[in-house]
Amino acid sequence: MDSYPAPTERDALALDASDTEGSLREEFLLPPYGDGQIAYFAGNSLGLQPAALAERLGEELADWAQLGVEGHLEARRPWVSYHELLREPAARLVGARPHEVVMMNSLTVNLHLLMASFYRPEGDRTRIVIEDTTFPSDSYAVRSQAAWHGLDPDKTVVRLKPRAGEDNLRSEDVAAFLEEEGSTVALVLLGAVNYYSGEHLDLELITRAGHAAGAIVAFDLAHAAGNVELKLHEWGVDWAAWCTYKYVNSAPGAVAGAYVHERHLQDRSIPRLEGWWSTDPSVRFQMAPEVTPQATADAWSMSNPPILAMAPVLLSLEIFDRVGMATLRRRSQRLTGYLESLLDTLGASHFEVITPRDPARRGCQLSVRSHRIDVGELAETLRRDFGVIADARQPDVIRLAPVPLYSTYHDCWRAYDALRRIQESS
Ligand SMILES: *Cc1c(COP(=O)(O)O)cnc(C)c1O
Repeated sequence: MDSYPAPTERDALALDASDTEGSLREEFLLPPYGDGQIAYFAGNSLGLQPAALAERLGEELADWAQLGVEGHLEARRPWVSYHELLREPAARLVGARPHEVVMMNSLTVNLHLLMASFYRPEGDRTRIVIEDTTFPSDSYAVRSQAAWHGLDPDKTVVRLKPRAGEDNLRSEDVAAFLEEEGSTVALVLLGAVNYYSGEHLDLELITRAGHAAGAIVAFDLAHAAGNVELKLHEWGVDWAAWCTYKYVNSAPGAVAGAYVHERHLQDRSIPRLEGWWSTDPSVRFQMAPEVTPQATADAWSMSNPPILAMAPVLLSLEIFDRVGMATLRRRSQRLTGYLESLLDTLGASHFEVITPRDPARRGCQLSVRSHRIDVGELAETLRRDFGVIADARQPDVIRLAPVPLYSTYHDCWRAYDALRRIQESS
C-alpha cells in the first residue's frame, strides 16, 4: 500500500477527482454537518437513502390512491407479483440463480424459517456451528432453535474462536474443525463477513468442508450482500439469508433476502412452514386447502409482499445493477486500501486495525481497536467535533466502512485526520 501518496488533504481530493469509477455519490442523500456533509462510515449499519426514493415511494402511494384494490393487478408495478421484480437483481447480487432467491420478511425471521427446514437434529448429529463473535441475533436464533428441539443450547451450539492472540477466525481452522468433529454437526451458520472484525471468510472452502462432513452449510450475508462478490450457487452453499438496510441501502428494517440452493428446491421431503404465498401462483386464487408446491425459493414465503417496504429494495437493486458488484468491489478495495494506508501512518500506540490485511479476506469495513480511548467516547467525539460517523462496538472497536457507492477518498482522509488529532491531544 506504500504506493499511495503521503496523507494530505490535497492528495485525497486529487484521488477523488481522478478515481470516480463506481461512485454514485450524487445519487445519495448525505446527512449534513455544518455547511458541508457528514463523512459517513456507518453504511455497514444503515446505508444511506437514494435520492430517487421519495419519488418512487410516491408512485406506489399514488397507485394505491388511484386504484385501491385494483392495484394488485393494475398498478404500474402490479403488487401481486411485485416481489418477482426483485428476484433477478437480488440473485445477481449474491451469485444465485433467480429461482433460488426470494425477498421476504426480515433477516432473523428468515434465519428461523430456513432453520425450520434445514436444522433437523438427528441422533448424534445435532450441533450448530457459529463464530464466537457472531452478531447477537444469530446467537439467540440458533440457541432458541436448539431449545425448541428440546436440546441444551450450551451443548448444541459450538462457538468457534480465533487462535489465541489472533483477532480473526482462520477459514482453514473452520474446515479442520469440520473434518474432525463434523459427524456431530447438523448445521454450519457463519457470518460471510463478520460484523465485528470485518473478516470475510472463505465460503467455498467452508462449504466444501461442511459438505464432506455431511452437514448443511449456511451463511448470514448481513455484512456481505452488496459488499463482497458472492457465488452462492457455484460454491454450493445450502442456504443463506441477508438484510438489505446495510450495504443494500434499502431503508431501516427493509425487506430481507433468502436463498436456497436449487438442489433442495425439488425435495418434497424437506419440511417447511407455509402460507398462501408458498403455493404455486397459478393456483393461488383457487383458494385450495392445500399448498401446490412450487420449485422455487418462493415456497418459503408466506405472506403477500409489503409493497412500501419493497419499493426501496427494488430501487437499490436497480442501482447495484447499473454499477455492478465487480466494479463496486474494485472501488471498495481501492478506498479501503487507502484508508488502511492512512491509518497505518498513525503507528500502533492508540489505534490498531484488526481486520485482515489481505483485501480478499475483508469487505470495505476496517475495524479499529482503540487501546487508550473508550470507543463510545471516541465515536461521539468523531461525530461531534469532526462530522465523522463511525460506530462503536463494545468492548474496544470502532468500525469504519468506506462504502464504494457514496464514500470518497476525502471522507477517508477526514476520518484519518480526526483520529490523528484525537491521538495527538490524548
Ligand atoms: C445486522 C445483523 C442482523 C440484524 O437482524 P434483523 O433481523 O435484520 O434485525 C442479524 N445478524 C447479523 C449477522 C447482522 O449483521
